[in-house]
Amino acid sequence: MKVALIGVGQAGGKVTQAVVEFDREMGFGAVRGAFAVNTAAADLQALDLDTVLIGRDRVNGHGVGGDNELGAEIMQSRATEVLEALDGRVSTEAEAIVVVAGLGGGTGSGGAPALAAELRTVYDVPVYVLGILPGRDEGALYQANAGRSLKTVAREADAALLIDNDAWRQSDQSVEEGFAEINRRIARRVGLLLAAGEATDGVGESVVDSSEVINTLARGGLASIGYARADASPEAEENVNTITSVTRKALLTGTSLPDAVEAEAALLVIAGEPDRIARKGVERARSWVEDETGSLQVRGGDFPVESDQLGALVLLGGVERSRRVQEFLDRARDATDELDDGPDPVEELTTDDLDGLF
Ligand code: GDP
Repeated sequence: MKVALIGVGQAGGKVTQAVVEFDREMGFGAVRGAFAVNTAAADLQALDLDTVLIGRDRVNGHGVGGDNELGAEIMQSRATEVLEALDGRVSTEAEAIVVVAGLGGGTGSGGAPALAAELRTVYDVPVYVLGILPGRDEGALYQANAGRSLKTVAREADAALLIDNDAWRQSDQSVEEGFAEINRRIARRVGLLLAAGEATDGVGESVVDSSEVINTLARGGLASIGYARADASPEAEENVNTITSVTRKALLTGTSLPDAVEAEAALLVIAGEPDRIARKGVERARSWVEDETGSLQVRGGDFPVESDQLGALVLLGGVERSRRVQEFLDRARDATDELDDGPDPVEELTTDDLDGLF
């Protein structure tokens, strides 16, 4: 699927760059245009991408802090500038536009839904948001911001593909190392998904087409993506179990929203050399995905790539009823209550609740 990517905010820019680099390294060419938008000049300077700085008149290039309402307001008032930038960079070939953002901050949290809404009024192609949810150790403001942002994204975008920042975190990593690792994993999954529909070289009926990705996401709402790979034998018939086991791994331990298995629709892509792909394994894996997700709409297809390994990529559409989404929404609501009810620092400094020193 040929796409244009727009990263909004710090995380949005970094993840966009990671996807662009992966697409370039693999020589896929699915990303047909990409740039980053931010209210913080310093975050844009750190990127190796075209950039657009917005809201200079409001925040002077310093960002919006965690104020996602301001982030949304600035994006709404500057959407024309961003659309102009897009016009110059997106070829008419783009089959979808993907807005990438961390939903817990300010610029991306407010800006992504505002931009998605604007893009949908102008473009006919689907507008997706690739949204990053804060990990459970991140503070109340991140959780509350992400809750409001997610609600708005779910309404304004054609679909929201979610990444949970706790998904692939290892306990011995610093936050920065953790981000670098998670960004690489996002890039691989999203990069493969976009490229999968482009691989028409291997021709054959079973090759997946980009319309399958679009159809899987067509019901809107929330989506997630899983991936796993394993070494494979050169003989297809020896790979039946490999295909079923990578598929299980992709869905049960490799997804961007852990524990979100129940889904309305799913797409299973098996990546590998056509000679190594066992049809019996693909059929079994597909019916397992059907049972596991409870979805009657499980699409499937191959992604021919040169490799000694076989990979399974699972895209789930309509995961809003899953436990993980519910857990996050509960967390976001509690955080919003905490922020609403918490002591107002200005009040505390001026009333008699706390005794002064003298
Ligand atoms: P903004 O610049 O105001 O949009 O704010 P950020 O993009 O920094 O958003 C903050 C959220 O994004 C928090 O939940 C962070 O954990 C997350 N975040 C920041 N940088 C990264 C990154 O490089 N990768 C990932 N996965 N998450 C990030």
